[in-house]
Amino acid sequence: MYNIPKILSDQKAFFESQKTKEVSFRLSLLKKLKSEIISNEKDIMDALYKDFKKSKFETFLSEYALVKSSLSLTIKNLKKWSKPKRIWPSILTFPSSDYIYKEPYGNVLIIAPWNYPFLLALEPLVMAVAAGNTVVLKPSELTSNTSKILTKIISNTFPKEYVKTVEGGVEVSTELLAQKWDYIFFTGSTKVGKIVAEAAAKNLTPITLELGGKSPCIIDDTVDLTLVTKRLVWGKFLNGGQTCIAPDYIIAKSEIKEQLINALKSEIIRSYGENPKKSPDLARIIDKKNTIRLQGLIENETVVFGGDIDENDHYISPTIVDEPKLDSGIMSEEIFGPLLPILTYNAFEDIENIVSYNKNPLSLYVFSNNKRFVKNCIEKFSFGGGVINDLLIQFGNHRLPFGGVGASGMGRYHGKHGFDTFTHHKPIIKRGNWMDPPFRYAPYKGKLGILKKLFKYFG
Ligand code: NAD
Repeated sequence: MYNIPKILSDQKAFFESQKTKEVSFRLSLLKKLKSEIISNEKDIMDALYKDFKKSKFETFLSEYALVKSSLSLTIKNLKKWSKPKRIWPSILTFPSSDYIYKEPYGNVLIIAPWNYPFLLALEPLVMAVAAGNTVVLKPSELTSNTSKILTKIISNTFPKEYVKTVEGGVEVSTELLAQKWDYIFFTGSTKVGKIVAEAAAKNLTPITLELGGKSPCIIDDTVDLTLVTKRLVWGKFLNGGQTCIAPDYIIAKSEIKEQLINALKSEIIRSYGENPKKSPDLARIIDKKNTIRLQGLIENETVVFGGDIDENDHYISPTIVDEPKLDSGIMSEEIFGPLLPILTYNAFEDIENIVSYNKNPLSLYVFSNNKRFVKNCIEKFSFGGGVINDLLIQFGNHRLPFGGVGASGMGRYHGKHGFDTFTHHKPIIKRGNWMDPPFRYAPYKGKLGILKKLFKYFG
């Protein structure tokens, strides 16, 4: 098995050699990584299909293409991002040249989940490498085929003392967390996020936690339901409903509920056919344990559509649940599967009550053409990020920061935000010697008045 302390000490020595501080070195490896990914496209698609029958289309759109475009953006901008940034001096520093230097943290640990096993392993890895860190990546044990292809791509690209995958489950993860890292980037459940935070705190290691939560989708009565349901069915059932930013449940205006449910049923049939089990486009639940967990969530609920389950095939059909109670199982934990509860509201306070039951979701979505209603939703609730009149697409713009708040996580990444996450911003002032204002030197007698005036005008 792995000698984890040795892997880390080799990476420490490599970081100390200063090699990763050369931007040209990082760039050459990021380019190599991109070409490795391109030449392994078919194997990547096959691995995700083997892991949970994820279709090639969805793997291309929601994993492969996002990693490739993130690499392209990083390769294009890395020289600019890593240059020291000149900052205006202040009255206290003048005469001086003030800068922010971009310094890598050192040795980074990345722990990835299974649900987007390629994307969520490589996206942070690209940013960590771009910023000049060494990386140990632990992919999820539940997607073993994807883990293998990740290991192949990474070992073909990087020297192991620079970037290495360590495959395995909780034991391996626990041993990794027992080491002293300079930064830990974790994507996964809130429960394990707390374990990671505790381990990191022992060494005062900075962390990013990309966690989950129950993301609401609010729909008022000003919308075109045909368009809304197309977007809803796509956003909810993509990846078999196992998306951290999927709409977990709907809060619809009471008057439109029946119409919405009917439109959803038609759209599910249009997308996946009368028997979704036969559809090549519906991914499976990751394992039997999660299939049984999801089955339990609908056992005592009013299922108005779907609810077909085959434990052995890890299959659950797209399912609509009508008005579950707030304290029911399905409303008390992140669903992470193809079950869609529909709750209703009459007044804005009803929405507040429901959303506050599961605070700080990772995402919040609003479908409405009422600007005031949209503004209220954006400003009233605390959530990681959101979209108005669509779903999931906040992940697709690398210029926007991505991350949670409160229970859904801390920190952010994507594009330049990701580079900054893995970078210590080191302020440096280069002081001029041609002028040396005497005010700060003792004795101070008679100087306070002048100082106050200076601050009044320039402070
Ligand atoms: P998980 O927390 O069970 O596992 C994540 C990683 O942690 C895996 O690599 C796993 O091996 C490791 N791990 C599991 N138990 C551990 C323990 N006791 N100690 C140390 N390490 C441990 O999460 P998951 O089931 O892989 O992923 C689903 C969760 O991830 C959902 O809650 C989802 O919302 C969240 N998620 C969040 C984002 C985001 O970007 N915010 C993205 C994807 C998934």
